[in-house]
Amino acid sequence: MTKIEVSQIEYVDVIVIGGGIAGISIAEFLARHSRLSIKVLDSAPQLGTFASGKLEGWFHTGALYSGHDDAQTFINCVNSLEDLINLYSSYFSEECNIALTETKPNFFTPAVIPNSKGWFNDRPVYLIHPQKNSPEIGLSGLKSDSVYLEIQRNRVLGRLETAYGQQHNWLQNGNCVAPIYAQVEGYEGLDCSLCYSMESIDDLCCRFDNSYSLENSSYEVIKTLDCSMNTTGIMRTLVTSALERGVTFETGVTIDKLLIDSYGKIQIKSLLCRTQNGFPKRLKARLFVFAVGKGFEPFLSDLQVLAKLKRSRSAMVVAQPALTDTNFVRMSTKRKFHFNHFLHNCEVGGEKFVYSILADSSYTNDDLVNQEYEVDIEPILDSAERYFGKDKLYSRNLFSYECVKTEFISQEEQKRRYSYWIESNPNSNYLCVLPGKFSFFPTVAFQCYRRIKSLINFEEYVEKTTFVPDVKVIEEANKLIADSYPMKIIRNCSAINNNLNF
Ligand SMILES: Cc1cc2nc3c(=O)[nH]c(=O)nc-3n(C[C@H](O)[C@H](O)[C@H](O)COP(=O)(O)OP(=O)(O)OC[C@H]3O[C@@H](n4cnc5c(N)ncnc54)[C@H](O)[C@@H]3O)c2cc1C
Repeated sequence: MTKIEVSQIEYVDVIVIGGGIAGISIAEFLARHSRLSIKVLDSAPQLGTFASGKLEGWFHTGALYSGHDDAQTFINCVNSLEDLINLYSSYFSEECNIALTETKPNFFTPAVIPNSKGWFNDRPVYLIHPQKNSPEIGLSGLKSDSVYLEIQRNRVLGRLETAYGQQHNWLQNGNCVAPIYAQVEGYEGLDCSLCYSMESIDDLCCRFDNSYSLENSSYEVIKTLDCSMNTTGIMRTLVTSALERGVTFETGVTIDKLLIDSYGKIQIKSLLCRTQNGFPKRLKARLFVFAVGKGFEPFLSDLQVLAKLKRSRSAMVVAQPALTDTNFVRMSTKRKFHFNHFLHNCEVGGEKFVYSILADSSYTNDDLVNQEYEVDIEPILDSAERYFGKDKLYSRNLFSYECVKTEFISQEEQKRRYSYWIESNPNSNYLCVLPGKFSFFPTVAFQCYRRIKSLINFEEYVEKTTFVPDVKVIEEANKLIADSYPMKIIRNCSAINNNLNF
């Protein structure tokens, strides 16, 4: 007897494939501004398992990119901050703790609300910009490095002053408005009101110089708006809000096939998949959103994506307990090696842990992504030894882990690297998205919303109340989102230590 396969058929307005920060924020924003039925599918048992759960947790407001030749990525960070304040801070008033603050009469700039609990940590990231007498320049011996350092310093000071200093009033006609490209490119002055002097940073820099047997060199220290963010907390809040608006989430789903009508503009007719229990399903929708991070490869030819997929690997080191209570990044003339230290905290089984994440923002070549070898963490350990001393560093529980970064780039858009990417064709019923940075989620959600609006017409809905979540829904969201990867490491580490104690 032939087996008759039963397949469930489901129809919703929008299907989002991928439940990292991109998929979650798009589904949440769309649900909050429409009455569309929305479903999010993920192949992993929990959401936020991959890049969105493994990152460093650096909320980028542009500092790291302020020295780039082109200001586009810096502007993208600044714009995302504008979107965050305009589109999230009043609705998520308890959680989204960045707001415009009056720094002088009638002059407003964004700031994390001091001592607040929420998505963003109120400890800033201090950006250390070395000068010509720094060990790196001394060791390099290349005149070009020293010249480039000076150019980079001018850009960093100028762009940060324009955006966050005393040049631009972010409050305009009751709205939060970021500076535009021409403003950040046009500012010539080197007077940066954000330059700072702090004993703990001086001590770190001094130890760094001395590790090269050098006298103290000079630095610019800039207090930035960058900070660490609670990425798991952000995803849990957004999923709670989405659940409350009827979004359904299905995890452990395997996508077998896209049924495509490629006559004229491509239309996805159905998505064939199997549920967590292996039950076949045919999903139909008005629109499909692909937000699958490093999982784009199998869909590229069906979806005829034009941009080139670029993947690279990078490693981070977790040190617990934390090495210092200051977040800092040391800018380098080599784009890749900006050593940075981030302070995070988490609660495991009622116990509170404070830990450091160390990274150097470097990525391996994409050709090597699939090869079996480890990313080199020696440069990170070497810098950490110089800043904190070997004794302190190796007295900590130390772990390293890797993460894959996925970007889409086209030749002309090289300058937009580290930025978000959204691709759709008019008359097609899908769009593809990669956020480039977790921090871009407000812009990614908003831009996708606008793109979706242009692809399928629907009635807009404006949420006027603020977010007051139901306890049961919070619990459901908490279960759906995986703990962050560093937190899992610390939990395991604490379990190992407890076993050793017994
Ligand atoms: C080392 C490193 C450090 C970083 N640090 C920072 C930082 O400090 N700050 C910052 O802002 N950004 C940072 N980033 C960038 C950031 O992590 C990513 O841009 C962002 O998390 C990507 O989100 P995503 O939703 O696109 O991808 P992901 O989080 O990877 O989500 C994709 C989801 O799609 C699902 N999926 C994949 N294939 C399928 C399929 N076939 N069917 C169904 N589901 C599927 C996966 O299970 C996953 O849940 C870092 C990246 C790396 C690599």
